[in-house]
Amino acid sequence: MLCREAARRVVYSHGNEVYIHSVERRGGWLVAVCYVRSESSRDKCYQVVLKLRPGTRYFTGHCDCPDFKYRGGPCKHIVKAKVALREYLKIAKRVE
Ligand SMILES: [Zn+2]
Repeated sequence: MLCREAARRVVYSHGNEVYIHSVERRGGWLVAVCYVRSESSRDKCYQVVLKLRPGTRYFTGHCDCPDFKYRGGPCKHIVKAKVALREYLKIAKRVE
């Protein structure tokens, strides 16, 4: 997805690098859909879906970049999305 499309309708954007589209509770999970800017092609964003267990440090993540597909493990986009989500949750808590 192009980042300028990902930048529309966001709940939170983190320094033009991470765009959080939605954060919602599903069962016992907090599910966040994010778009993270690619380092190599700057107008492109990868989709990262993060699932967190609220109140614990446990999370899983999925990214649609080639690195994640190849290694099947956490890539830097997941790390970036997690940092942005933590910031967002801090702000959301303050607003409540
Ligand atoms: Zn990735």
